[in-house]
Amino acid sequence: MKIFLSYIVYLNIIYFEYHINQPCTVDTVKIAILGGGLTGITLAKLYQELGNEVVVLEKNPKYGGLCQSRTEQGFTFDIGGSHIIFSKDTEVLDFMHRALGENREMRQRNTKIFHRGKYIKYPFENGLHELDVDECFFCLNEFIRTLLAVERGETPPPENFREWMFYTFGKGIAELYLLPYNEKIWKYPASQMSCHWVEDRIPRPPIEDIIKSAIGIETEGYTHQIQFAYPRTGGIETLVRAIARPIEGCIRTNFCVSSIRRQNSTFFISNGEEELSADRVISTIPLQTLLPCLAEVPILVQKACDALKYNSLYCVFLGVREVIPTFSWVYIPDQKTGLFNRISFPYTYSPRVTPQDHSSILVEITFKEGDEVDHLTREELLTHVINSLLDIGVLQKRESVVYAMVERQKFAYVIYDLSYQENITRIRDFCKSRQIGLVGRFAQFEYLNMDGCIRNAINFVREHPCG
Ligand SMILES: Cc1cc2nc3c(=O)[nH]c(=O)nc-3n(C[C@H](O)[C@H](O)[C@H](O)COP(=O)(O)OP(=O)(O)OC[C@H]3O[C@@H](n4cnc5c(N)ncnc54)[C@H](O)[C@@H]3O)c2cc1C
Repeated sequence: MKIFLSYIVYLNIIYFEYHINQPCTVDTVKIAILGGGLTGITLAKLYQELGNEVVVLEKNPKYGGLCQSRTEQGFTFDIGGSHIIFSKDTEVLDFMHRALGENREMRQRNTKIFHRGKYIKYPFENGLHELDVDECFFCLNEFIRTLLAVERGETPPPENFREWMFYTFGKGIAELYLLPYNEKIWKYPASQMSCHWVEDRIPRPPIEDIIKSAIGIETEGYTHQIQFAYPRTGGIETLVRAIARPIEGCIRTNFCVSSIRRQNSTFFISNGEEELSADRVISTIPLQTLLPCLAEVPILVQKACDALKYNSLYCVFLGVREVIPTFSWVYIPDQKTGLFNRISFPYTYSPRVTPQDHSSILVEITFKEGDEVDHLTREELLTHVINSLLDIGVLQKRESVVYAMVERQKFAYVIYDLSYQENITRIRDFCKSRQIGLVGRFAQFEYLNMDGCIRNAINFVREHPCG
């Protein structure tokens, strides 16, 4: 009897695993979604809720894209860089919070800028009184002078990102923080970047706030991020997994899309070995990956795509057995301190992402493919990061590092150079003419956070509800 029951349980497990792991068995799917990052998964969930058949085609063995996390030796890290959940968009914020349900920690931001050996409150313009007094005066005076000049019409509106920093914040804040930090993260001259993307995102702070900040009265900037959420267990990937739950059976992992052709009104999507058909294709994969999948791409469109700029990213993960700072994360604008632009402390987001009595550090280094950083070995990167953290006192002892790992992301940040708008318009028009929808960070080629990706997925589905 016991053996018989075990056999039944065994058969049930086999049945369960088969059905969970099998992709949709239909030959013709209605909507094929290319890429299983947050955007692709959200699109699939929304389309399925409307009763459409969907399949998500993901090249990697795991879905999640930039929102993947990994747990090893009790340490959970977000492998696409440190992620937190926040938004001004209440519908989207609610969508993310509901997806996580009880598995959610709420935190108060405690973020700094490491400036000339001191930790200054973030955003920089809200921490002016923590600067040396002459630097504080420089920032305050230049902010006021710039404001007056703008109001008198003596300063023309900015034409590039560099000019925008000086025009909006004045020479002091621009030179001490904004310019060095931005040139470090973008690896691109600010004078050759467009400013269209910051104009709405970051307004000029009110003069009252700058004065208060300079004399030491508490003010806050970037207020929609003061409180943020993070999954209690499993890292940011838990969010994507929670959204994916109802459509997991429709995700084809290990399916690297290599060609897309259209015959009459049907699309045929192939990975080189297998071909699927679909009535509609929505791409969330990078444009640089999508275009080579298409036949007869006009030369001007290909040139526009080749001209798009992006940054790659190295993340260094350290599991540590010692007391380290309790900041949420710290921006590092200067080159002298290290190659990295940001140090995050994920152990402060949730007590369940490290073993007991341990802490964790996530260091981000942007780079351009083929540059000096890209040529460093993983050991060299690790050594550099650990030595730099010891130098600035974030780490006390080398032996405290009990876990170390390096991860590389090819597509991390979109760079808005001055020819961006012309190039992207040409590519989008072309994809529209081929009836391929574009949604997501590298498909739209926009600086979208998770909330922007979800918002664009929601809007796309609302605009094209029948697939
Ligand atoms: C360092 C860093 C920190 C961030 N921090 C935050 C944060 O704190 N909060 C926040 O809201 N957002 C943050 N973001 C932004 C967030 O990661 C993105 O907005 C989001 O993950 C983008 O999702 P996506 O699905 O559009 O793209 P991706 O995650 O890039 O997904 C694209 C998917 O397509 C797949 N793919 C590519 N080529 C193919 C192919 N040929 N065939 C099939 N599949 C393919 C990829 O494997 C990937 O899974 C951060 C981003 C970075 C880089």
